[in-house]
Amino acid sequence: MTTVHIDTCPVCGNNKFTDKLKYKDYLASGEEFTILECDKCGFAFTQNFPSEDVIGRYYDAPEYVSHSDTQKGFINTLYHIVRKITLKSKSKLVIKNSGIAKGEILDIGTGTGYFLNRMKECGWTVTGIEKEESAREYAKDKFGMNFHESEHLFNITAESKNAVSMWHVLEHVEQLNETMSAIRRILKPDGTAIIALPNKKSADANCYKKYWAAYDVPRHLWHFSPEDFRTLAEKHGFSVIKMKPMYFDVFYISLLSEKNKKTILASLVGLIKGGFLFLQSLSGITKCSSVVYILKKN
Ligand SMILES: [Zn+2]
Repeated sequence: MTTVHIDTCPVCGNNKFTDKLKYKDYLASGEEFTILECDKCGFAFTQNFPSEDVIGRYYDAPEYVSHSDTQKGFINTLYHIVRKITLKSKSKLVIKNSGIAKGEILDIGTGTGYFLNRMKECGWTVTGIEKEESAREYAKDKFGMNFHESEHLFNITAESKNAVSMWHVLEHVEQLNETMSAIRRILKPDGTAIIALPNKKSADANCYKKYWAAYDVPRHLWHFSPEDFRTLAEKHGFSVIKMKPMYFDVFYISLLSEKNKKTILASLVGLIKGGFLFLQSLSGITKCSSVVYILKKN
């Protein structure tokens, strides 16, 4: 297997790391991966992750709902109900934070196209990038939208978009720094980047540790906290002007984490525990399972 070995921290350039934990791929392969933490900035990453040409098979699980759009099972049903609600809040968030009612948006890792379809309904001109062919075909059939392959990111005209969004996608992207640079280049001077990421310092990450579903190796290559994402954003000429909580994620992540633990009645236990963890997350955004970062160019 071709793997990617990281010897320089992508955030701060340091080359000394400490083993944070061994984490199993509960979803697809059952293989174990090591998550390392940078001694200098605290950024964590999956070491020796499968390279882009082979990682596809690690996404090949029927439970991988963000690409397959399956509705089987309790967790997936719940996911689809929540998606309806979150689609509305995502579009509101873009409109409010970009400061314009209509404009041009690029969504990177757009999946089956539900979010961009919603933005289109709101009157926005949309561009989508999605590496999975099956997801692109789904979006074409269902919404009549044509999305681009990954390489398109580097061909988009400079300063052409009012907003660029990535909803739980940056943690999957091998070219981390290149992607951040591209976003900056593509955005208009007053444009807004909206980037949602799991938070490795959240109350649920702290509770579940090696079972925390949002480590999701080897699909998640990078594991952010609000501090180290801010460092990365600033390195690329952005200011984090706001952080917004994604309150629902803690329930979904708790359900999956209980499944990882093989808990009896995992769904029920996950929901109840998710409720307690949700209450903890109300004490501050740094405890939230997922955080949406609103970035402006400096
Ligand atoms: Zn570092």
